[in-house]
Amino acid sequence: MADFVIAPPAPVSVPVTTGGAFPVRRVYCVGRNYLEHAREMGHVGDEEPPFFFAKPADALVTGGAAVPYPPMTANFHHEIELVVALGHGGRDVLVENAMNLVWGYAVGIDLTRRDLQAWAKGAKKPWEVAKGFDHSGPIGALVPAAAVRLPLKGRISLTVNGALRQEGDLADMIWDVPHIISELSRYFELHPGDLIFTGTPAGVGPLLRGDVVKGDIAGIGTVETRVS
Ligand code: MN
Repeated sequence: MADFVIAPPAPVSVPVTTGGAFPVRRVYCVGRNYLEHAREMGHVGDEEPPFFFAKPADALVTGGAAVPYPPMTANFHHEIELVVALGHGGRDVLVENAMNLVWGYAVGIDLTRRDLQAWAKGAKKPWEVAKGFDHSGPIGALVPAAAVRLPLKGRISLTVNGALRQEGDLADMIWDVPHIISELSRYFELHPGDLIFTGTPAGVGPLLRGDVVKGDIAGIGTVETRVS
């Protein structure tokens, strides 16, 4: 074992519905993967395909723990998303082989400092401060792929204090899961332990201190957090 000169950080993991924990290596995210969300963000009639960004693995929040309202924002948004967990890796993965990499699925929230994202877009600056901040990735328990019916479809929704905010269907993703994995593997060598947040449907909006946020995907599971 290496002779660490400071204490190494704790490994990051996500609980699994059937027991045990899934160790996390990286967290990739897909942007603009539902047409209605692209439209609400002002991308009307633009043919730009979805794209990738990332969050640090230690931004994940598990077990329903609270999320502290982040600093440096006055417009803190929820984005409910299907999360894919990879049990196998690869490079230049063919679409028809991509599902062989999938270990399981979860429900996640891509928390976003929307004002900093708008600034970054306008100033042509990176997105890290808007997307990759501490506690920006609440995630529910992972369900093994064997327990999930294919093709992936079903209602994806999010409520804040019991009021419906976001609603869509997994079938409405512009890039489906095999295409996401195949495309991502052209840019990065994928490895076991990688997670992919697959984009959000329409209805994103602001969160305030004290809000109770619940997400649900039919046939996959739930995620829950509170803004503290
Ligand atoms: Mn997102």
